[in-house]
Amino acid sequence: MTALVDDVTELLILWPHLAAALERDAGASVEPVVSGGNDPAFGLPVNADVLGALAHLRREVPFTAAWACGVVAEPWVGRDVEGHLRHMPRWHERMLVTAAADDAGRLAAAVRSMLRDVKLALGLRTPDRALGQFCPMHDEPLREMIAPGSEARLRYTRLDRAGRPIMPAVEWTRHDAAVCRYCGASWAPSQYLGLGRLLREADARRVQENLRSTPSSSGTSAGNLAAEGAS
Ligand SMILES: [Zn+2]
Repeated sequence: MTALVDDVTELLILWPHLAAALERDAGASVEPVVSGGNDPAFGLPVNADVLGALAHLRREVPFTAAWACGVVAEPWVGRDVEGHLRHMPRWHERMLVTAAADDAGRLAAAVRSMLRDVKLALGLRTPDRALGQFCPMHDEPLREMIAPGSEARLRYTRLDRAGRPIMPAVEWTRHDAAVCRYCGASWAPSQYLGLGRLLREADARRVQENLRSTPSSSGTSAGNLAAEGAS
């Protein structure tokens, strides 16, 4: 099984829970709001995450499906989110056998990112932590590296006929690493020494680059002030 098949299976299992979580959060009239929606410390209702993830999937899944159909030269058929998701492993397979490896990678990354969103909304993932350092591998665009949040994965031995796991267990994994979500580079703690060297090189490179293209804007704000004063 590829990682994409695992991710799609997990998405199909978690997807119905999004709607359920929303109902639970909104059930304010009779029952108290679950999951801390009334907590004044947060201000925002917790279901904003759930709403966001639902909207994101309803938009992103058909969009990705339409794109994938184009890549594998298949007519696009309108389906619901679940229907589209079920076809994704097959499209991925087709891309791999037709040597569209880049597209296959893009599809796998899209599914991975949807799963991350859903898990974040359902409390099965903690947010990424920004590291305050730009990825040393590229200057354009500059992207801040992150330490990935912890992620829960469903562990189960098999699925029932409706595709639900039998006796699932939730297992949390923590990834200790510095990661760039843009280019996919990642460094384990044992590689931080090398990463430090790359970061210093990148800093030096960017300083050089800035010196070469010195912005001619230094006088702009003063010029604007002078213009304002004159009017
Ligand atoms: Zn990068």
